[in-house]
Amino acid sequence: MASERKILFRGGIIVNAGGAYEGDLLVENGKISDTGRNIGQGAGEVVDVSGKFLFPGGIDVHTHLDLPFGGTVSNDDFFTGHMAAAFGGTTSHIDFAIQTPGETLTEAVDRWHEKADGKAVIDYGFHLAVTDFNDAVLAELPTMRKRGITSLKVFMAYKGLFQVSDEDLFQTLRIARDSGMLVMVHAENGDVIDVLVREAHEKGNLAPKYHALTRPPEAEGEATGRAIAVAEMAGAPIYIVHLTCALALNQVRRARSRGLPAYAETCPQYLYKRFEDYELRGFEGAKVVMSPPIRSADNWPHLWQGLADDTLQVVSTDHCPFCFDGQKDLGKDDFSKIPNGAPGIEDRMMVMYHGGVNEGRYDVSRFVEITSANPAKLFGLFPRKGALLPGSDADIVVWDPEKEKTISAKTHHMNVDYSLYEGMKVKGVPVRVYRRGELLVDGDTFHGEKGSGVYLERGVFTPV
Ligand SMILES: [Zn+2]
Repeated sequence: MASERKILFRGGIIVNAGGAYEGDLLVENGKISDTGRNIGQGAGEVVDVSGKFLFPGGIDVHTHLDLPFGGTVSNDDFFTGHMAAAFGGTTSHIDFAIQTPGETLTEAVDRWHEKADGKAVIDYGFHLAVTDFNDAVLAELPTMRKRGITSLKVFMAYKGLFQVSDEDLFQTLRIARDSGMLVMVHAENGDVIDVLVREAHEKGNLAPKYHALTRPPEAEGEATGRAIAVAEMAGAPIYIVHLTCALALNQVRRARSRGLPAYAETCPQYLYKRFEDYELRGFEGAKVVMSPPIRSADNWPHLWQGLADDTLQVVSTDHCPFCFDGQKDLGKDDFSKIPNGAPGIEDRMMVMYHGGVNEGRYDVSRFVEITSANPAKLFGLFPRKGALLPGSDADIVVWDPEKEKTISAKTHHMNVDYSLYEGMKVKGVPVRVYRRGELLVDGDTFHGEKGSGVYLERGVFTPV
């Protein structure tokens, strides 16, 4: 019933990837039906949004909800993670269905559907992470299109567990190219990392900082360059996930300047956290144990510049929360046993707006492009998602650019006992969040209905 209402958003600044203008926006039956001025006479509900931005709902294309990892499970499921996402202005996400070695791809996707069924509040899709390469699996890959999956992920790290050989990477890229799928790569040199981790163990170097010291930026730079070269030989586009450092960024920049279809995302933590966070008192450093690791702060300006000049097209979170008490401490005596990951699905829009728009690094249109429009295009959701256009889903974030907030684990909605951004003051926050015309969040109140999020069958990617 709720979605059959007509809602008129009156007098806001409507922001799309291409630009921003002052106007009204009309929603009917969960979709945007019109934008302009003096529209929507007789709408049942009028929302005054003067002085506010209207953004298309955020799309986080890199999340790990309910993920078994390192003897535990990431602590947000498809309900708590979705509620937190909505509070942060994110109304769609794409999670990774990860194949357990030995199982078919169909089984992996079925398992992820079970995690989301009945819990979802925002809309969601799946990438498929392939970890076990054999003829049967490679033959099964193209059939994933019928399940609405048009992106694959492979890992060049995690030796002996998930790591792909160059041979399998090449074959996967060719199959993906022929079936209209985009391959995403975790680019770190797993062979080198494996040696460094073993040596750290032998020397008794077991504190959290050794997580970073055994995964140097050169390992990421090398793998990024190799992934792009293998993709070029395969004639396939490629997408580098969670890029962290200047060495890797330069590989993507060089490829794009040659006209190659190479794309990359970074994550907010790589723009705000520094290597020294691993050396904080006690076991605090475990909070930033993730792969690739946090780098030295001299990488930050390069990544911000990459977002501004389109070397980086997307900001995602790699949201994979583990509690400091009870989960991270599995690695109290050995950094290699600390569950890898950190929370962020709720914070992404606010910290990227604050650091990007308020600090003058890019404008609101570019903000929408990297948080919503480009994710929708690259992952086959555009223009249903990622735009405020007639015909698009009415995923609308009413954003108050003047409102301030202090980020804290005490007030966030993610099911985790710490925040990467504890105490950070941001200006510009979502005040109302709609998904397909239904109000999910109004200020501090959650109105979302458990199970109302839908699975997104995705189309092929659009180059950006
Ligand atoms: Zn990830």
